Amino acid sequence: MEVIVKRSARRKKTVQARMVDGALVVMAPAALSDGELAEHVSSLKARMEQRMGPRNDAHLEVRAEHLNQKYFDGALSWKSISYSERQMKRFGSCTIEDETIRISSRLRRVPQWVEDYVVLHELAHLLEPSHNRRFKELVGRYSLTERAIGFLLAVDSMERRKKRP
Ligand SMILES: [Zn+2]
Repeated sequence: MEVIVKRSARRKKTVQARMVDGALVVMAPAALSDGELAEHVSSLKARMEQRMGPRNDAHLEVRAEHLNQKYFDGALSWKSISYSERQMKRFGSCTIEDETIRISSRLRRVPQWVEDYVVLHELAHLLEPSHNRRFKELVGRYSLTERAIGFLLAVDSMERRKKRP
């Protein structure tokens, strides 16, 4: 889970947190020490992760259904959507013949709005197999598409750098 800390001089004592676009935004007093802040952040993060549930296949199913309702009027159907450990070069895939969607398990670690883009991308392939104009119109309904593509490119190049000896 991505954590964004915002310190404020006006804030006196309390530390508060809320979810914004899949990131945990923590608001803390400016005077709080780094050690105290780190403690607050780790307990807030644990509590939020518990509330949101783990990123498992059931989580993907919930996200896919949410996106289906929001961007496709609930018109799509699929047989299964699940995480795959074997998708290390790609972020997702959609097999149209058996309506099966696989999402790289690497995406468990990216912000929810980025994973949502990949799920939406694979859902759109149920309607349009190629990356043509119609496909771009479909994924363009999601306002964070451009930002998510940028984020994924950065993840890709970071992982490539790590593999280099
Ligand atoms: Zn695609």
